[in-house]
Amino acid sequence: MQKVAELYRGKAKTVYTTEDADLLVLEFRNDTSALDGERIEQFDRKGMVNNKFNYFIMSKLEEAGIPTQMVRLLSDTEVLVKKLDMVPVECVIRNRAAGSLVRRLGIKEGLELNPPVFDLFLKNDAMHDPMINESYCQTFGWVNESNLARMKALSYQANQVLSKLFDEAGLILVDFKLEFGLFKGEVVLGDEFSPDGSRLWDKTTLNKMDKDRFRQSLGGLIEAYEEVAHRLGINLD
Ligand code: ADP
Ligand code: UDP
Repeated sequence: MQKVAELYRGKAKTVYTTEDADLLVLEFRNDTSALDGERIEQFDRKGMVNNKFNYFIMSKLEEAGIPTQMVRLLSDTEVLVKKLDMVPVECVIRNRAAGSLVRRLGIKEGLELNPPVFDLFLKNDAMHDPMINESYCQTFGWVNESNLARMKALSYQANQVLSKLFDEAGLILVDFKLEFGLFKGEVVLGDEFSPDGSRLWDKTTLNKMDKDRFRQSLGGLIEAYEEVAHRLGINLD
């Protein structure tokens, strides 16, 4: 499938149209951003690692019955996906306290959250992705009630599948962000699942193996992503 035209250049990926109006190409670049795009750096191999990571995770979710955008891998850094009408809302599941939850509630990082928390954020860099709730979605028309209920149920289902997968690889799935869209009226998982949009800690040492290494200038970002991929059995060659 040939790329036809650049549709959108995001902070980490470029989106291209194809000859098929229902399909897009996502190209994973080496760019890594923090602070809503105010800080951007390039890391060798990152586009390739995240593309293969995302393909592996989405395939596992699809196998578990979660509808995803995935069509097929095209190259090291490109994947063919269904073109979704994206819901401008990020769904976050938290199994442990970290990041903005710790800042907002002043609780201890790592606190186990039982049951896991479900948060919603509006996708809006200029407004720093403000936290919202289910009623905002109705009032502002971002997504209707039944589609939102489906997004929430699929997020929790993904959490069950992925918590187990990462646990078996010696990792704690601390939290993660998902983006959904509509394809012919159906709620479908889009965008990406990678260590850019999740928190993964080593089960024994509690070392951070995700984008917090960049946010907190801990170093060894790609080495950590590759270690996680290796533990999951993802082939990066
Ligand atoms: P951002 O827009 O946050 O800078 P990216 O660099 O990841 O993020 O850009 C990818 C863009 O493509 C995002 O806006 C995302 O919502 C959108 N997108 C992801 N998957 C799909 C899809 N399957 N169909 C349509 N748009 C998608
Ligand atoms: N996240 C993301 N994109 C965002 C905001 C958050 O992928 O725009 C992910 C983030 O990597 C983490 C989870 O969502 O895995 C929860 O993020 P949090 O609300 O703690 O925000 P942060 O600490 O990143 O400000």
